[in-house]
Amino acid sequence: TALGAAALSSLGPEVVVPSYDRTAVRAGIVHFGVGAFHRAHQAMYLDRLMNEGKALDWGICGVGVLPGDRRMRDALAAQDHLYTLVIKHADGTFEPRVVGSIVDYLFAPDDPDAVIEKLADEATRIVSLTVTEGGYNFNAVTGEFDPTNPDVVHDLQPGAAPRTTFGLIVEGLVRRRERGLPPFTVLSCDNIQGNGDAARKSFGAFAALRDPGLGRWVQENVAFPNCMVDRITPVTTDDDRAEIARRFGVEDRWPVVCEPFTQWVLEDSFPLGRPRFEDVGVQLVADVEPYELMKLRLLNASHQALCYFGYLAGHRLVHDVCQDPLFANFLLAYMDREATPTLEPVPGVDLGEYKPNLIARFSNPHVRDTVARLCAESSDRIPKWLLPVIRHNLAHDGEISRSAAVVASWARYAEGVDEEGRPIEVVDRLADRLTASARRQRADRLAFLADREVFGDLVDDERFTSVYRQHLDSLYEIGARATLEKLV
Ligand code: NAD
Repeated sequence: TALGAAALSSLGPEVVVPSYDRTAVRAGIVHFGVGAFHRAHQAMYLDRLMNEGKALDWGICGVGVLPGDRRMRDALAAQDHLYTLVIKHADGTFEPRVVGSIVDYLFAPDDPDAVIEKLADEATRIVSLTVTEGGYNFNAVTGEFDPTNPDVVHDLQPGAAPRTTFGLIVEGLVRRRERGLPPFTVLSCDNIQGNGDAARKSFGAFAALRDPGLGRWVQENVAFPNCMVDRITPVTTDDDRAEIARRFGVEDRWPVVCEPFTQWVLEDSFPLGRPRFEDVGVQLVADVEPYELMKLRLLNASHQALCYFGYLAGHRLVHDVCQDPLFANFLLAYMDREATPTLEPVPGVDLGEYKPNLIARFSNPHVRDTVARLCAESSDRIPKWLLPVIRHNLAHDGEISRSAAVVASWARYAEGVDEEGRPIEVVDRLADRLTASARRQRADRLAFLADREVFGDLVDDERFTSVYRQHLDSLYEIGARATLEKLV
């Protein structure tokens, strides 16, 4: 059955469908970057609430900003914005649920003004974002908003039809202010430490470039709560589509698959109100930072710790890497000896359970997360997730050997050639530059690390460079697997 509102009553009993009347749901949230993760996480929490008869005025209107989002607009529009979320348990059980909390989708390149009017609508009280780590437009060296980005330059022309998230959202805020409406809350759900603060900085900077007074107004009047988000959500494959059709009889153009685990820790700062997220398992706290650091330095940095070594050792799926005891031991050692000493105590979380549970989550064979997904856009990830661990340990005389090995494994991977001489497709906005410097390191071991836009002044730290060099030598001399064996 092709998924859509009319099909809901004819789906098999194993497929849970919305118990609420979707025609009664009104959009209160506008979400930018409706991809896999948003649909497995925030939209799922809202759907849970709606199934309890709550939050019917907090439906989601999705927005796509990039040309590639046309596909998502078309897929959702064809099925009344419904989609199937399939939770894949480690024992092979699949739990399918049709999610109904997204009620509309606007594709900004077709009609930017429709997006701005939606943002300016009084009913819109939260504007949330999953636009990737790179979506905040920070210069990697200075950490400041990059005003030279051509789309930003375009959006700053007076009267320009906005192309960027910044142009659209700031214009939405301006129209509200003109109309005497209070600003909505901007909720970043990207994997960035201090994601709310990062959003405040980038939207504030864009607004200030339009007009300094507007910049101050945004800084002072718009709430940007921080949050920690967690649920491993791989890219949907054609195999997923086929398997969902076969097992459940649902033909879904773009289903989402994910692991059972989910966590959302949210700073409770929503001047125009919010759904009762606490009723469906979201933790509302005063300070998100300890949770964020735990997640970014244990989960996300471990993803980087496994992906380059894993790829070079011949693995292509994350669970194959983590079911390999050599890798599991390496990851646990990185977490225990290098990441954990940099963390503050995390209220209510037992790290002694959290860490082995991460290995178990990564080892779930049904999620089929790919090593390639983890290797993509490394230049946005390593600096945000792993380098802070290294800097902390350098400053506190802590251990750095395993983290240095991870950076070396990235440097080796970035050459774009594997240990058998086959090409690696390096997916990174800095790919050309990274590959060029990685190729020079056969002669000059520090060539890759010398990229200050990515690594800052790490190359000047003798303590770091001496171990880094040894690991890189080892990667060239004996390969990834044997290098790990020496380390564990
Ligand atoms: P995805 O590729 O499915 O979706 C990404 C969305 O972001 C797309 O709609 C894309 O058009 C949009 N986007 C990208 N760059 C943009 C830009 N510069 N401006 C505007 N829109 C932009 O990816 P996903 O799995 O949904 O992950 C998105 C983000 O969610 C991640 O980068 C991460 O920060 C966060 N996250 C993901 C996971 C996960 O397991 N997938 C887990 C936790 C957090």
